[in-house]
Amino acid sequence: MKFTKKQIDRYSRQIILKKIGVIGQKKLLKSSILIVGAGGLGSPIAIYLAAVGIGKIGIVDKDNVEISNLSRQIIFISNDIKKKKSTTAINKLRKINPDIQLKSFNTKLTIKNINQIAKNFDLIVDGSDNFRTRFLINDFCLKNKKILVSGAISKFDGQVYTFNFSNKKSPCLRCFIPKMPSYPDIDNCEYEGVLGTLGGIIGTIQANEVVKEILGIGDTLCGYILIIDALKLTFRKIKLNKRSDCYCYGKKK
Ligand SMILES: [Zn+2]
Repeated sequence: MKFTKKQIDRYSRQIILKKIGVIGQKKLLKSSILIVGAGGLGSPIAIYLAAVGIGKIGIVDKDNVEISNLSRQIIFISNDIKKKKSTTAINKLRKINPDIQLKSFNTKLTIKNINQIAKNFDLIVDGSDNFRTRFLINDFCLKNKKILVSGAISKFDGQVYTFNFSNKKSPCLRCFIPKMPSYPDIDNCEYEGVLGTLGGIIGTIQANEVVKEILGIGDTLCGYILIIDALKLTFRKIKLNKRSDCYCYGKKK
């Protein structure tokens, strides 16, 4: 792979970084990331991953844009109301970076379609808004030894966790939440509310972790959960241990 003059110019501020360089930028351009959910988290994740030059980005979302989304889902504008989120988001990314491959999946991720949709991506970023999808992605990534960077927001709080399932020591979501909550399809943002900026804080950290995982630089968040309280502005990184009675250890669900 040889850079064009335009690519060198576009990515010049990253290429001059010693920890990235030409080799690192090529790694980014060769990587493929699937973003689940074009919402409050998916918006900044998608914008930054396209901007930094991830070579192939897919977005899965079945919803249409609603006016109540616009306080945090910054990839959309008022004119997008009622349009399909996945294709509208992909069209925005194409304008941000025409240099990369983009693919929209206008569907809900289910146990039936997850393999077909996600198998060709190196890494999955979870920006979904419900536990059923979170557990589904966790189990898929565990089974297929993929890297999962997950985020969650509610009210004024947020969390980020990374599981690198190519590493046998990695815990999984079920180590942290052993049983699926009783209302797995409920969208917390809708019922409990969320401050719009939380999506930007947590989603941008998720995008940053994706870049680090691809490049193998810095300290990975794998095995930790980062808990952010935006009101107190505290960041707590808590060790997450793999549980011997968990599904990821070989026990049945
Ligand atoms: Zn586990």
